[in-house]
Amino acid sequence: MSNQIIPYGRQEITPEDIQTVIETLQSDFLTQGPKITEFEEAFAKYTESNYAVAVSNGTAALHLAVMALGVREDEYVICTPITFAASINCVKYCGGQVLFADIDPETYLMDIKSVKLLIKNNPDKKIRGIIPVDFAGRVPQLDAYRKLADEHGLWIIEDACHAPGGFFTDQNGERQLAGNGKFAELSIFSFHPVKHIATGEGGMITTNNEKLYKHLLTLRTHGITRNTAVFENSIEFAVGNSHAGDEYPLWYMEMQELGYNYRLTDFQAALGISQLKRADLNLIKRRAIAELYTNAFSHVPGIIHSSGITEGHAYHLFVLEVEDRKGLYDFLRSNGIFAQIHYIPVHLMPYYRKQGWKEGDFPMAERYYSRCISIPMFPSMTEEEINYVISITKLFYERS
Ligand SMILES: *Cc1c(COP(=O)(O)O)cnc(C)c1O
Repeated sequence: MSNQIIPYGRQEITPEDIQTVIETLQSDFLTQGPKITEFEEAFAKYTESNYAVAVSNGTAALHLAVMALGVREDEYVICTPITFAASINCVKYCGGQVLFADIDPETYLMDIKSVKLLIKNNPDKKIRGIIPVDFAGRVPQLDAYRKLADEHGLWIIEDACHAPGGFFTDQNGERQLAGNGKFAELSIFSFHPVKHIATGEGGMITTNNEKLYKHLLTLRTHGITRNTAVFENSIEFAVGNSHAGDEYPLWYMEMQELGYNYRLTDFQAALGISQLKRADLNLIKRRAIAELYTNAFSHVPGIIHSSGITEGHAYHLFVLEVEDRKGLYDFLRSNGIFAQIHYIPVHLMPYYRKQGWKEGDFPMAERYYSRCISIPMFPSMTEEEINYVISITKLFYERS
């Protein structure tokens, strides 16, 4: 094969997707129309949560989530260093402080033991929240996090960008879907093209908390409300120079706090609705690829550990931990396979180093980074492409 490049992830746009976007472009609404609510309702249903709020991207979702739950200048939020920087930057946007906890080398998720230790060892710090990340598509034991959070009065934001449709099994043996609102106050998703559902840019927040839901709707659009029941200014003021009635005029609205324009457009929502219909089928395809990879790589010298097979894993990524990672990366690339590294530990990004973090702070995360590589994983991969990735990867270790 391949003069064609195989990326680590790729969106799939079908003729139906295109048709539905065209129809929305020809409708009366490009933004703030009916497709937004339709997408939100479909997504809430998909995640088995009560409410969903569509926003312009996953980072905006994180920003609004932290705003809604609150963090003060002297308060700390705990996150994993093995994630996309946006997972924790949102705390900085809101003026809060960051703490990192090391990962579990088996699951690659933030290690709850390390979180507990962090809380125990920092009695002088006001810890306000935890942001567990469903890294690579694996959903953490959020019931255990809820218990811990309740013990210490903390909020939880689940960064579920990698895991729509993924689940974990709770202590009672029940399946709990990513973003179902039962454990985290808020869960956030991204619809960037490399994620499971693509809308170009796009994001979603899910919750079971009605008050937070309503607050997020306001924050998404400048902090403006049209709900007469909560208006602060008088009817007399709102009416102006004509004879004041006993109702607020139809044009009247109030900006009651500082919000943003983090809205999604209707044509993006239309694309999201169409993509969501294939989400379950695509999860099955991702899982089948993970099984082929796991079988193929389980006895290859030089391949140390992998994402493997776990129930409920949504397989946004399939990670290998390998010897000579740079050698493999270059060899794959010279053969048209564009692997990627997820992630360079956030605490070692220059921005965070300047705030005091250094190498050696989180040994498991740093060892993981030194040898991880994400190989291609997307539902539209052909059998030929999957086999090609397997044979080129094996060839590298058999040849050297
Ligand atoms: C993609 C991603 C984000 C940010 O989403 P955007 O839509 O790109 O802003 C946040 N967290 C994780 C884990 C992600 O993978």
